[in-house]
Amino acid sequence: MADVIIIGGGPAGAALGCYLSRAGIDNIIFEGANFPRAHVGESLVTSTVAIFKELGFLQTMEEAGFVRKFGAAWHAPGGRSLSLRFNAVPEEGIDQDYTYHVDRAQFDLLLLKHAEKLGSRVYQGTHVRRVLLDEAGQARGVCVQVGNSEVEVPARVVVDASGRNTLLGRQLRLKQKDPIFNQYAVHAWFKNLDRGEGEEADYIHIYFLPVERGWVWQIPINDEITSIGVVAEKDIFKGSREDIEGYFLRHAHMNPDLAHAMRHAVRVTEFNAEGDYSYSMRRFVGDGYLLVGDAARFVDPIFSSGVSVALFSAKFAAERIAHAFALGDFGEHVFLPYEEKLRAGVEIWYEFIRLYYKLLPLFTHFVQSPQYRREIERLLQGLVFDRKEAQVLQAMREYIAKVEASENHLLRGQLSPIPID
Ligand SMILES: Cc1cc2nc3c(=O)[nH]c(=O)nc-3n(C[C@H](O)[C@H](O)[C@H](O)COP(=O)(O)OP(=O)(O)OC[C@H]3O[C@@H](n4cnc5c(N)ncnc54)[C@H](O)[C@@H]3O)c2cc1C
Repeated sequence: MADVIIIGGGPAGAALGCYLSRAGIDNIIFEGANFPRAHVGESLVTSTVAIFKELGFLQTMEEAGFVRKFGAAWHAPGGRSLSLRFNAVPEEGIDQDYTYHVDRAQFDLLLLKHAEKLGSRVYQGTHVRRVLLDEAGQARGVCVQVGNSEVEVPARVVVDASGRNTLLGRQLRLKQKDPIFNQYAVHAWFKNLDRGEGEEADYIHIYFLPVERGWVWQIPINDEITSIGVVAEKDIFKGSREDIEGYFLRHAHMNPDLAHAMRHAVRVTEFNAEGDYSYSMRRFVGDGYLLVGDAARFVDPIFSSGVSVALFSAKFAAERIAHAFALGDFGEHVFLPYEEKLRAGVEIWYEFIRLYYKLLPLFTHFVQSPQYRREIERLLQGLVFDRKEAQVLQAMREYIAKVEASENHLLRGQLSPIPID
């Protein structure tokens, strides 16, 4: 028996465990894998620092020696590039001007251990089969696989933090595929990549490809290893008839800056692929349950938003769970403000991503604009919660409308067919 059962010990589940223990709420984390385990999602945004600080985890991040991330750079297929140094000071809860790139196997293990240290009862290698719901649809606990048998563990609140496995979303048929994005990513780690010189060598580098919504990430994992991932519409991969390596290399060579950086690169891991990863659950809460992190919603990873959303969803969910325990009421209506807050924040990310793909040169234009640069910087750092929609998004929409309306506009040929309303 536990007050709260958390399904999954990734960043969302582990951070939630930390917040609940700090609030004096008993919690169990059931994690299906045995950590350390590999995971995609290696570049963080600056807003995560505020959570690490709040959870007393920042010192651990520093001691682990993760690569410091001070900014981002974008490389057009034609060879032009643009870089942006984050300048997070002074922002709420953040007093350093960098965040981190992480080896997720190590990062996730450290955060899960931190949750355990703060009081979560953590069971690894323990797969949750399903959430137990009573006749009225109220969550009452979970059914866990233990060896060859299944054991029922009751709880007052169940939180699905199972990531893209979306355990409860599948069980309740809540999952809605994104109507626009159907991206496919192929990625691996390399050594001997030429990351350039100075601080920018440790930025995240995004290389654009001359295919629909095609781009490549370059993320430093440590002094030697660099993660490279090719992302494009899934149909492009399906139609390619190449093996995964042939597909990866042909696309990586489409951008001259990347081809140069990779000229001596040697692959040190197998290729991994990720597909069907943009979706939303129809609801994030119900009687006795909440969904956090990727288990609730996933948007395209172009701006490295995933771990930040996972951590903030944990923080907001913990606030409502604490409120529910104070009231002794675990009904959906008590958890709804969590859903509203998370949806509003992720919608800002989503809108930004859609406008970005709609007209890529627009992003460059707005980053360089004295009026909007600061707002774009805040968005890129993940400061999307507790705010009305960022004004820059409206300005971007108006700019796109102008390009669409003017037949002779220089950028008209670069408009993507995706809808933005
Ligand atoms: C191609 C790609 C690139 C990305 N790049 C970035 C990036 O650069 N930066 C970034 O911030 N994010 C990135 N992301 C997103 C990031 O990976 C996720 O948003 C983040 O991992 C979400 O954390 P989570 O805790 O919700 O889920 P996860 O990290 O997936 O954790 C879920 C955990 O639940 C466990 N689990 C699953 N099912 C069960 C079960 N039934 N019982 C028990 N345990 C279970 C899993 O083993 C796992 O450990 C990327 C995603 C993709 C697809």
